[in-house]
Amino acid sequence: MSFYTLLQQYPASDLKKRLYEISPEDIDRALSQQKLSVADFICLLSPKINNDQLETLAGIAHRITSQRFGRTIQLYAPLYLSNECHNGCKYCGFSADNHDLRRKTLNDDEILREGDHLHRQGFRHILLLTGEAPEAAGVDYLEHAVKLLSAKFSSLSIEVFPMSRDDYQRLEHVGIDGLALYQETYDQRLYPELHPFGPKSDFRYRLEAPERAGEAGLRRIGIGALLGLGDYLTDAFYTGLHARYLMHRFWRTQVSISFPRLRPAEGGFAPRSIVTDRQLTQLICALRLFLPDAGLILSTRESAELRDNLLPLGITQMSAGSCTAPGGYEGDEGDGEQFAISDHRSPEEIRVLLAERGYEAVWKDWDGAFLGQPE
Ligand code: SF4
Repeated sequence: MSFYTLLQQYPASDLKKRLYEISPEDIDRALSQQKLSVADFICLLSPKINNDQLETLAGIAHRITSQRFGRTIQLYAPLYLSNECHNGCKYCGFSADNHDLRRKTLNDDEILREGDHLHRQGFRHILLLTGEAPEAAGVDYLEHAVKLLSAKFSSLSIEVFPMSRDDYQRLEHVGIDGLALYQETYDQRLYPELHPFGPKSDFRYRLEAPERAGEAGLRRIGIGALLGLGDYLTDAFYTGLHARYLMHRFWRTQVSISFPRLRPAEGGFAPRSIVTDRQLTQLICALRLFLPDAGLILSTRESAELRDNLLPLGITQMSAGSCTAPGGYEGDEGDGEQFAISDHRSPEEIRVLLAERGYEAVWKDWDGAFLGQPE
């Protein structure tokens, strides 16, 4: 059964009703479980949770994270290769109808320069990003970029456009080991409104892309919803359900979840709901209890203060020193960012902060040599 079929079994209207009908006793019962059912997960996401229960939830999340992951945080950096895009996502600065944006796709020298910059800062895990414009930055281009960068990095992931299983396999063969692909919202009625044109308007093709990546053998798969686009609670629930589905089906693959929050007025797009720090904290902790082994990622989109506070509650990976414009690390392309960064600390500052809090920054946890591949 594909995740699309599973999704149909949890209509959003029923889910919203259940989330608001939860009693304090239901939440207490869910908090006492060793292994959470889907019904327990719904209880822990409920807005009916009180402050004492939230504190208990945070304590359990902290304990599980320490047991499963120790005091380590894996650091990675995004490398934007191209901002060309044929899609019309309403909330994104790279949207095809943003005619003021200077479009750019990095050439070989620029890719190497950006890669050298990140390597000098200590990164060995990087995430390669493009929009969706196959003639400018398609599978051939990505394959070539990976060949240019693979000598310097032990893990290369992509956050690009959804592909066929064969194309994921092609990239896996040249050294891509991870995929990040966010559904943005799992609300099938809202989705077409936010993605009015371009290939991304195909909800199901995007939704099933992580499955195709799993079938192609990618070792890391990251999913998430852009919180605030739709109803954040139902999107958080579906994200957890999706991650659990992928973990069961591809048990050798490490599945992780990101929590990008849409901000007011970002790119002129007004979020449907503003997710508060308290709400974000609750859903991160609820996901930790529901999926004890999932990676939980917090990017530089969030403020330094919030990232520091959420550190002990379940986060396992962080980006650092990020730039979201192609060529932005080494060139003068400061404008044309996909979204604004809130945490501007350098990778070294993040490493020092982690050390002060008793955490170890992990720059590398994988080597191609484990599979007999050259690093
Ligand atoms: S979110 Fe991605 S697909 Fe949509 S406009 Fe931005 S770059 Fe293009």
